[in-house]
Amino acid sequence: MGPPRQTPGTDHAALREHRAHPRAFHENRYVYAVLSRRSGGISIGVNLNPDKRCNFDCIYCQVDRRCMPPPEPVNLEQLRDELEGVLAAAARGDLYAEARFRDLPPPLRQVRDIALSGDGEPTQCTRFERVAEVVTELAARHATPPLPVVLITNATGLNRSRVVRGVDRIMAGGGAIWAKLDAGTAERYARICGHRVPFRKVLDNLAATARRHPVTLQTCLFNLEGSPPPDGEIDAYAKQLAKILANDGQILGIQLYTVARKPAESCVTALDASTLDAIAARIGAALPTVPLHVYP
Ligand code: SF4
Repeated sequence: MGPPRQTPGTDHAALREHRAHPRAFHENRYVYAVLSRRSGGISIGVNLNPDKRCNFDCIYCQVDRRCMPPPEPVNLEQLRDELEGVLAAAARGDLYAEARFRDLPPPLRQVRDIALSGDGEPTQCTRFERVAEVVTELAARHATPPLPVVLITNATGLNRSRVVRGVDRIMAGGGAIWAKLDAGTAERYARICGHRVPFRKVLDNLAATARRHPVTLQTCLFNLEGSPPPDGEIDAYAKQLAKILANDGQILGIQLYTVARKPAESCVTALDASTLDAIAARIGAALPTVPLHVYP
């Protein structure tokens, strides 16, 4: 394996400086636009959980859940209108005149993808399959070639039939799955993500999905109570991924990053770049065929 590599063709200094990911965009409820380090430019986000519901309790989560709106189903018509509006603004160039984007260097002032993500877990959305249809249709209608639709997920709902069908639709349109895996053992997983969904279920869902479609893993690494993840934890993590590969799973790459903004709990602090690189080298040695993308 070569050294951990970055996404090519991006201005990383500008991306590192851009830590804010506000999901408020004009009067929109579902659709927003942010500069995304991992997308290498502007990502149009579709927040499927404006009610902030999530089945994880990540200790580094940025979503403020002190005030919870009432649960509500996604309004597909409104979502469609908002997405059409932002895509049209990108096509006209108005989007790039927004204060948050206008000073970006030209390579970053481009819409790179549409991400299903938000203030909770998108696969919990009861209308996920219809959302996937609407978003992939608009992604194809408003851009040539179609903008990739990226599902950003904690993997817990990937076994649901409506999600399986929606994922198939996204992937048929040239999309991608970015699935979170932050630990290699059940103990650390529970400490980081909470106890509501068994670690085994996450691993089984990842393995089954990776047999059907290539999956990119997203792994957030950080100091917990002042200490980085121990070597044994990193080795266990690499072994979990090796098992997925050994069972005919496809792992397109791993995105390794640390916390960029103030986390939910003060026991979480960012790793320095050299520690992140050392962990990446350890993972790379164990998984030499899997590309690593490191975001310090
Ligand atoms: S899965 Fe995402 S939204 Fe849910 S608690 Fe974790 S970081 Fe927050």
